Amino acid sequence: MSTIKFFEQVNRNFDKAAAFTKYPKGLLDQIKICNSVYHITFPLKKDDGSIETIHAWRAEHSHHKLPVKGGIRYSPNANEDEVMALAALMTYKCAIVDVPFGGGKGAIRIEKRNYSEAELERLTRRYTYELVKKNFIGPGVDVPAPDYGTGPREMAWIADTFNAITPAELNSSACVTGKPITQGGVRGRTEATGRGVYFGIREACNDVEEMRKLGLTPGIDGKTAIVQGLGNVGYYAAKFLQAGGATLVGLIEYEGAIYNPKGLDLDKVVQHRKETKSILNFPGATSMAKNAEALELECDILVPAALENQITAENVSRIRAKIVAEGANGPVTADANEFLLQRGALIIPDMYLNAGGVTVSYFEWLKNLSHVRFGRMGKRFEESMNKRMLQAVEELTGKKFPQNIFDQIAHGADEEDLVNSGLEETMISAYNQMNEIRKQHGGKVDLRTAAFINAIDKVARSYMELGIFP
Ligand code: NAD
Repeated sequence: MSTIKFFEQVNRNFDKAAAFTKYPKGLLDQIKICNSVYHITFPLKKDDGSIETIHAWRAEHSHHKLPVKGGIRYSPNANEDEVMALAALMTYKCAIVDVPFGGGKGAIRIEKRNYSEAELERLTRRYTYELVKKNFIGPGVDVPAPDYGTGPREMAWIADTFNAITPAELNSSACVTGKPITQGGVRGRTEATGRGVYFGIREACNDVEEMRKLGLTPGIDGKTAIVQGLGNVGYYAAKFLQAGGATLVGLIEYEGAIYNPKGLDLDKVVQHRKETKSILNFPGATSMAKNAEALELECDILVPAALENQITAENVSRIRAKIVAEGANGPVTADANEFLLQRGALIIPDMYLNAGGVTVSYFEWLKNLSHVRFGRMGKRFEESMNKRMLQAVEELTGKKFPQNIFDQIAHGADEEDLVNSGLEETMISAYNQMNEIRKQHGGKVDLRTAAFINAIDKVARSYMELGIFP
């Protein structure tokens, strides 16, 4: 699997879509290419006194809009090809959801489990320092976020280091997103990618014609789902799918998989994994030691939410899911993608489906730049206006609203309400844009190609408006 070049896979999908556009080759090449890659090595002093050389990268794929934006991953397989591919996907993702950023991505090549918290803190702070030295981080140039193996804790270390080095920078907390709330984070960011995955699947499942083609009834309710990876993206995607009425029949982690056609209770599985250090042997479920085989089990919706290159030419003929919802970046290779399309499966592409994270990161960045919590100015005013209106209705009708209904309608929007509403609006309108493009091409293009056409069009116009390619 490691021989599959990820950036090449992304570019194959790009080329397929570019053939439907009329932009000159030079412009398409400029959009495709990765603008800058920074490979850093530095020493880490381990807790036992030994020294280890750490390899890390930051790629800035496109500077057509600034800052560039994209997560930082901690993974033992991180490499230059992977960061460039992921940075490219970020460029297209931001364009698809109308987030005004270029694409970037960073990585540190480590197996996180093998490092203590103190070691992780040292290497995160050192990595940040290296990025600052070369201007590869900053509120207006490059704004990282969490990705595989990183979360709010790492983002807090990054923000704190950046802040310490650039004390006069008024907007320093906007140098990174996905921070804890106390460090300038925004409510709703932690679950944003998974929630967005849910919204995207819901949109596809509400498409009556699409479901008819798959032999499924519309709606998420009653559909069976398998989720690979119970990290930030997979856990929340599974949680929202379950709350939306789907039955989780399979869950896959790196140590194995569990399957129960009657359904698995997500939080009980997570509790079991915490206690036993493994997903396996969950009561009532069939355990599978070979985790990849669980991707091949019968289900309506398969959500790969761990890493790239999971569905390849090797296993694709055995994949039975009707809908493949790409929570992870690049989980389906270009060959496997064609195979799935041939057999009529619906693929909801990564660059659309997991864009909830960058969307809410954009909201966090805006919050940091404006130095005020969303909803702070308007919440009370909105609430008192709503109350006055409801009271006027009560006076005119001589009837009282039940208290719970009164409170529900009177409620003024707080930060979480606004963030979730902005995320939902974004995922719905981006889906509609993709569908509109499909219609313009007589239904002949798949969702991924439509997403790419949309992204290419937006980035190309942005270059042309700069007058670079008249
Ligand atoms: P994470 O580190 O929080 O979780 C990943 C999970 O996958 C872990 O629980 C890990 O144990 C598990 N895993 C690893 N190898 C596996 C295997 N072979 N089979 C099954 N499970 C395995 O990472 P994340 O942030 O959830 O990222 C997952 C994917 O989603 C990545 O492709 C990432 O680029 C993408 N993504 C993340 C975000 C975000 O906001 N975090 C946003 C967009 C896209």
